[in-house]
Amino acid sequence: MADPVRTLTADVVVLGTGPAGMAAVAAAAAQGAEVIAVEAMEHIGGNAVWSTGYLAFVDSQMQREQGIEDDEETFVADARAMVAQAEERFGVEWDEELVRLYARESAETYRILTGRGVRFSRFIPRPRQHTVDRMAAVEDSWMLGRAFAPDFALPNVTTLFGTVADRLVSEDGRITGVLAHGPADGQRHALHARRGVVLATGGYQSNPELRRRYQPEFVARAPYLGVDTCRGDGHLMGQAVGGDLINMTFVPPLVIVSSSVVEDAIAVNGAGERFHDEAGPYEDRVEQLHAQPGRRAWYVVDDEVAREKAGLIGQMPEPLVQAATLTELAAAIGVPGEALERTVAGWNAFLGTGAEVDPEFGRVVLPPGRRRCATAPFTAVPMVEGVNFCCGGFRVTTDMQVVDVFGSPIGGLFAAGDCVGGLNPVSDLGGVHICGGFTLGRVAGRAAARGVHDEGDHGTVLHAGMPSMLDTKIALVHLDAPGSHAP
Ligand SMILES: Cc1cc2nc3c(=O)[nH]c(=O)nc-3n(C[C@H](O)[C@H](O)[C@H](O)COP(=O)(O)OP(=O)(O)OC[C@H]3O[C@@H](n4cnc5c(N)ncnc54)[C@H](O)[C@@H]3O)c2cc1C
Repeated sequence: MADPVRTLTADVVVLGTGPAGMAAVAAAAAQGAEVIAVEAMEHIGGNAVWSTGYLAFVDSQMQREQGIEDDEETFVADARAMVAQAEERFGVEWDEELVRLYARESAETYRILTGRGVRFSRFIPRPRQHTVDRMAAVEDSWMLGRAFAPDFALPNVTTLFGTVADRLVSEDGRITGVLAHGPADGQRHALHARRGVVLATGGYQSNPELRRRYQPEFVARAPYLGVDTCRGDGHLMGQAVGGDLINMTFVPPLVIVSSSVVEDAIAVNGAGERFHDEAGPYEDRVEQLHAQPGRRAWYVVDDEVAREKAGLIGQMPEPLVQAATLTELAAAIGVPGEALERTVAGWNAFLGTGAEVDPEFGRVVLPPGRRRCATAPFTAVPMVEGVNFCCGGFRVTTDMQVVDVFGSPIGGLFAAGDCVGGLNPVSDLGGVHICGGFTLGRVAGRAAARGVHDEGDHGTVLHAGMPSMLDTKIALVHLDAPGSHAP
């Protein structure tokens, strides 16, 4: 009979192997630490390998080669502008120190990724968010996973695939291990961590019950496109040991579509006309969709794009509609045929010019090679609002050590990627989630391998919200005393 509990010991245990987990594993292993990686799926890469693969780097070699000047202050100013917009919709706390850390370290992420064979094809302009070109498109998102495969083959790295971490173990107020189970065989694992545990289990977007705690019911039901293992397990495990969660209501609605499809698509409404910058800020796209009668609108692409991006189009929530001509397509989706023909002709005419900005809606993200929407048959896919990622996670130190609700770092517990809350409020910039995972995951892995967990050795505590109760002197506050705020 198999041992009911399999016990393993390492210096560092990393939960999840998306960009944050991959980078943490690689960084910890490079420091000579013995590492156990736990992954619920059967492969590394998390959401990043299924994503569009846009990564925003600050002052990267790619920018320098193209004469683009960028620096920490420019990025922080852009981030601040995003936070100001997000604050109008959500309760937001951002950690400027974390944003600065990202700005300083992301060029190194570019160097590491390209050194490991990842290729970026071009910058994707988003002038309303990134004031300089810094968001690069990876040629193939699976490159991001392949780049880290060798780390998982190192003799000091053990990976448990198909295994779900479910509890943290603590001794004397310090995290010393993890309990996990294999969903298929029910095998229990007790994983001891001599130096630290890194939470890198991604977000909570695929867990409607958890989202309902933070979102109105009808919003929490909005569809999600992405890996279904991002159920907030790390958030719950960290919360159970006192970790301070911030920005949990911040689950930005967006129109569910790969940005790669958007590059080639135009969107038309019930009148058969374009109505917005298809590649504009996520929030604007949702607002514009809401403004359409019945919230009905469709992305339209031609056969060349439909074939090339069949996988991405096939993932969209509503089935596609195809027709031999634009007039037939218009009839199939119930919009005026003449109008649709005119709209597509107008778009193609614009692409035939040298103009870089769409005169109608200011769109600057154009199809690669300015290819026209011209090859029959034509495809329409309904626009549907949903989510791809969320922004809530733990408050952390600059060593990515999780901070508890009283502002004290929790010994032995680190977090990165979508388990961290302080960077993601700037996510509307674009390209920050994946690059943030790689960049701050590296910091977390290094710190965990060093065994940073004792008081006074944990980097800067970022915006510790509340004083530790231990530091607070007892005082009796008379609410009816003169000068109090009591009514
Ligand atoms: C369709 C789509 C397109 C996107 N495009 C972009 C983009 O272009 N640019 C960008 O910056 N961001 C993009 N994002 C967001 C981005 O992919 C994620 O925010 C990012 O991958 C988060 O990194 P992570 O390492 O924190 O978590 P993830 O990449 O989400 O990985 C988490 C990993 O943890 C594992 N896991 C979860 N729970 C457990 C558990 N209990 N035990 C063990 N393992 C567990 C999961 O299986 C998964 O492998 C996109 C997301 C989607 C869905």
